[in-house]
Amino acid sequence: MGKVWVLGAGQLGAMMRHAAMPLSIEVQPVDFNQSQEVVLAEEDVVTAEIELWPETPATQTLAAHPNFANKAVFPRLADRYTQKQLLDELNIATAPWQLVCEKTESESLFSALGDTVLLKRRTGGYDGRGQFWLKQAEATAVPEGWHNEAIAEKKIPFDEEVSIVGVRDREGNMFFYPLTLNLHVNGILMASIAPLERLGKLQKEAEGMLRKLLSSLDYVGVMAMECFRVGDHLMVNELAPRVHNSGHWTQAGTSISQFEYHVRAVAGLPLANAVVKGQSVMINLIGVARDNRWIGVDAAELYWYGKEVREGRKVGHINLTQPSLSALNSALGKLKPMFPEPYPQVFEWVEKNLPVS
Ligand code: ADP
Ligand code: MG
Repeated sequence: MGKVWVLGAGQLGAMMRHAAMPLSIEVQPVDFNQSQEVVLAEEDVVTAEIELWPETPATQTLAAHPNFANKAVFPRLADRYTQKQLLDELNIATAPWQLVCEKTESESLFSALGDTVLLKRRTGGYDGRGQFWLKQAEATAVPEGWHNEAIAEKKIPFDEEVSIVGVRDREGNMFFYPLTLNLHVNGILMASIAPLERLGKLQKEAEGMLRKLLSSLDYVGVMAMECFRVGDHLMVNELAPRVHNSGHWTQAGTSISQFEYHVRAVAGLPLANAVVKGQSVMINLIGVARDNRWIGVDAAELYWYGKEVREGRKVGHINLTQPSLSALNSALGKLKPMFPEPYPQVFEWVEKNLPVS
């Protein structure tokens, strides 16, 4: 079997490499700026941990390989304009939107989308970066440099944010994990909970939307779909053609993680149905210094990415899976005092949203 090359050398590629080890599949992440020549074999496959990359000798070599999975999908989803067009074409509910053109001014956006409008850069935004709120009451103008570079979205008064991660193989077989409940603070994911029985009634709708997307794109691998829950229905917020932070809980909470699934799919291996074990919680580590007391807590599984700690930066995550809610709550209770602000509120959100034991 050939190697699986990953465009990008961040934590997602590293976790794919880790997940592929028991199967003895070699996963090789490649830094965009790698100076060493990338030499691919015919039977190798190429995937990416990110949807947009700079043109460099390394990325050009990888992207030119005939076995680059989903090659045409990346540019389509990396641009929020073409991503929104795709959702509309497939009749998948999403926040009403408009392209911000050369001459678009905020007044026309307010009349089309309401008195509070969210501008999102077409490309490159992540973790809430690349967004700008327009408020009619404050007569906010479209900032300089955003014309032709952004879409405008109606503000959705959602009840909560959920996501679904699914995988599709070359033959069109698919598997979907249960919906995950996510907490974002200032646009960045702080915690996930899965599975949750109360989200079960939305599972069919979520799977139907993602199934339609995966099939219509003839997609191979893992895709994540972030949604807003509005009452009893879902509205798609955004899509990620890759493994996703809100699927990290699957490392501890299922028999086949999203990382292993992605490798299986791109390598042409059978998918099977992952078994979901117990109750899982994932706590994202954002700009916090490593504290080894964390791994002294039963069930706490730390993934530390080895990056320099900076404010607002994702530097790791902790997965917790327990068969019993009381054991899970006890672990969370031990971790909580080990964290600085704003984590107490994150733990409170988790406690509030876990089922009552
Ligand atoms: P990113 O790529 O930064 O994750 P998102 O489009 O997911 O970008 O936006 C980040 C967060 O901003 C979302 O998780 C949600 O909390 C909030 N948000 C995004 N779009 C809207 C919207 N139309 N209405 C209200 N909140 C939104
Ligand atoms: Mg998002």
